[in-house]
Amino acid sequence: MSTIAERLTAIRAGLPAGVELVAVSKFHPVEALAEAYEAGQRIFGESRVQELCAKIGALPADIQWHFIGHLQTNKVRQLVSTGRVALIESVDSERLLRAIDAESKRAGVVSRVLMQVHVAREETKFGFTPAELEDFFARGAFRSLEATHLCGVMGMASNTDDEARIAADFEAIAEARRRALGLAPDLRGFDIVSMGMSHDYPAAIAAGSTHVRIGTAIFGDRI
Ligand SMILES: *Cc1c(COP(=O)(O)O)cnc(C)c1O
Repeated sequence: MSTIAERLTAIRAGLPAGVELVAVSKFHPVEALAEAYEAGQRIFGESRVQELCAKIGALPADIQWHFIGHLQTNKVRQLVSTGRVALIESVDSERLLRAIDAESKRAGVVSRVLMQVHVAREETKFGFTPAELEDFFARGAFRSLEATHLCGVMGMASNTDDEARIAADFEAIAEARRRALGLAPDLRGFDIVSMGMSHDYPAAIAAGSTHVRIGTAIFGDRI
């Protein structure tokens, strides 16, 4: 059986230069994260606020934590006030975005976020459809943000064996970012395309992913 370090090394060897690896450590114990950290991993993805807060306290301070789960507005204060979240990847509504902005301002921090784009046929219902994202940028709705930096998009492909469908979903996510930029050419640093998980990340990279979020292929099955 391979170790976490061996699996990390193998995955990194296959990533093109410039593609960042987010090690999705949700549901795994701090010992597993520490092993990945020892192997050089610095970006970790978590999906629950309470679990993330516990892990922040138990692990080294130079870890970049990404929040990747559905975030309830009533948990935003707890998340933002840690001051330790490098990127909130899963902003799935304008209401949530406004809450993050307000709490960030209150906490005296600037939050970096990704807009979650919903293209998959089934699975999660969370996220902006490409049309909703276009509308958001066409309205200039981002201009009133005071303490939030929009850094790009995040998305998931349909959970299917249909490779053409998966490729089309990833293309649609990447295209959503380009269209947003087309509507807001003065938007700076809207560069991240976070897509691709254990089972589909090569296809995501082919479609222009800059950040892959890989859990199972590093840490094994979640308990
Ligand atoms: C759990 C999760 C992942 C990682 O999935 P794996 O199949 O374990 O690689 C990636 N992105 C999001 C949003 C997740 O919730």
